[in-house]
Amino acid sequence: MAILEQQVEDPSTLGVFDSIADAVGNTPLVRLNAVTDGIAATVYAKLEFLNPGGSVKDRAALAMIRAAEESGELGPGGTVVEGTSGNTGVGLSLIAAARGYRSVVVVPDKTSAEKIALLRAHGATVHVTPGGRPSHDPDFVRNVAARLASETPGAWLAGQYDNPANPGAHRSTTGPEIWRQTRGRVTHFVAGIGTGGTVTGAGEYLSQVSGGAVTVVGADPETSVYGGGDGRAWYVEAVGHFLHPQTVVDEWPDSYRPDVVDRIERIPDAEALTVVHRLAREDGLLVGGSAGTAVAAALRVARTLGPDDVVVVIVPDSGRSYLSKYFDDEWLGRLGFPLYHGAPDPTVGKI
Ligand code: PMP
Repeated sequence: MAILEQQVEDPSTLGVFDSIADAVGNTPLVRLNAVTDGIAATVYAKLEFLNPGGSVKDRAALAMIRAAEESGELGPGGTVVEGTSGNTGVGLSLIAAARGYRSVVVVPDKTSAEKIALLRAHGATVHVTPGGRPSHDPDFVRNVAARLASETPGAWLAGQYDNPANPGAHRSTTGPEIWRQTRGRVTHFVAGIGTGGTVTGAGEYLSQVSGGAVTVVGADPETSVYGGGDGRAWYVEAVGHFLHPQTVVDEWPDSYRPDVVDRIERIPDAEALTVVHRLAREDGLLVGGSAGTAVAAALRVARTLGPDDVVVVIVPDSGRSYLSKYFDDEWLGRLGFPLYHGAPDPTVGKI
């Protein structure tokens, strides 16, 4: 009875919140059943696309805005500025909207049209810049964002690549959630590496709380430099680190701590996309490309494990943002990837 009364009085237990910001986090873990065929270990996907902005980056966005409010860098009438491939911008622009700030987001030109439209829908001013520039180029995404922030009165640059609140968000929320949800049974934690905030923050927490018993695995596109690739371009959005020939390796972001990661699985685009396709068709999970990279890595790891092992893998966002790419045969075929629908569907276009 006492427990029941307590639950009724605690709005968070009922899913009732004062603001959309309070609905960030506490995402479900869902067991993967089909793609894990023949694997003895249990693999859980943490469904970050169920955050209000549709991605894992809502956590970092909220934590960075809160920290800036506390430090006084962001105040009433202020403008939130960031250079991002999209999801952080969506998180920042929705929290900015809910708190009365303006938002300005700079994105590279490979960002999907859907993501740009979403930013604009939240009231953000979006600047599209050429991708693939070295970090000293004035047109490099983060340099454009820094310039706009310095030119705009009342602006605050979120700077997710060196903002400690980014990994901090995962140390204080994602990691503890996984530990609680698995009742401390998690043995392996797998996440893609973009800014590195997720793998660093949650990985650090899980390593510490388990006394080093949790193995932390980074998932990286095959040619990304995090895992030792040569930095050649890849197609899965929002993970990996591009290395321009004129960029030096010590420019890795502060938000990524390589010492937290026990090993990195290097995943080719085709393997990631095959997993994305299987998750949609066989497990009912519509996920983005970076989730394909991460789940492919989790499956590689899980294949080597036994029935007592519990693997938790981060699913950063939904496939809805990429329907015109990863689920589109014209796009897939043009780039030489396995097709999704294959032969034209005879039911399409018939009345
Ligand atoms: N997947 C998606 C879809 C993302 O937007 C991001 C953030 N760039 C990541 C993975 C990587 O997360 P993190 O920045 O925490 O490493």
